[in-house]
Amino acid sequence: MIKKNLLVAYEGGGYSGCIWEWNFFMFDAKGVYHDIFSSGCAGIYDDAELAISVVDSNRDDLMFFRLDSKEDVINFSKKMAGSLVESVFRWMLENQMEYKLWFECSICEQESSADFPVSYCLSHMGGIVYANTELSCEDCHSSHTCLYCGEFWEDTSNFGADSGYCEFCEKDHNEQKSEGLACVS
Ligand SMILES: [Zn+2]
Ligand SMILES: [Zn+2]
Repeated sequence: MIKKNLLVAYEGGGYSGCIWEWNFFMFDAKGVYHDIFSSGCAGIYDDAELAISVVDSNRDDLMFFRLDSKEDVINFSKKMAGSLVESVFRWMLENQMEYKLWFECSICEQESSADFPVSYCLSHMGGIVYANTELSCEDCHSSHTCLYCGEFWEDTSNFGADSGYCEFCEKDHNEQKSEGLACVS
């Protein structure tokens, strides 16, 4: 496999017991190895030779994404938990890797690379906590965030139309308003 413009996800981690977590490394346009995130005893860290041999191995935990392919980058953003995608993209920005960071927003389902994706947890959906996080574009993220408490809500159908407050802040606000009126009269 050509070791250029290549992002690799592998099972690293493995502290106590056999718990693993996703680790990432990449080869840039010149074929230079970069460790993005390594952890535990299965992490590859700065060992470029090991990374090269891992890419050429038949390990079945590996996932490859071509960074110069829009399709591959979008695929990466869909396959991995949103928080991991956000961390990898953030690392790329901080390290001046000049790739278009494509992702699909889970809310408006638009493909985008214009804004940085924001990961969010679907913890407010009927009390069910999802293990995975999703990605949203900046526009959706701000329109789904309560202007008062700053909480992100997946469902905005109960947002105050004028206030931009979530259901709960809207209720508090209205109660305070009516209490205020009660004092005046
Ligand atoms: Zn969106
Ligand atoms: Zn609120």
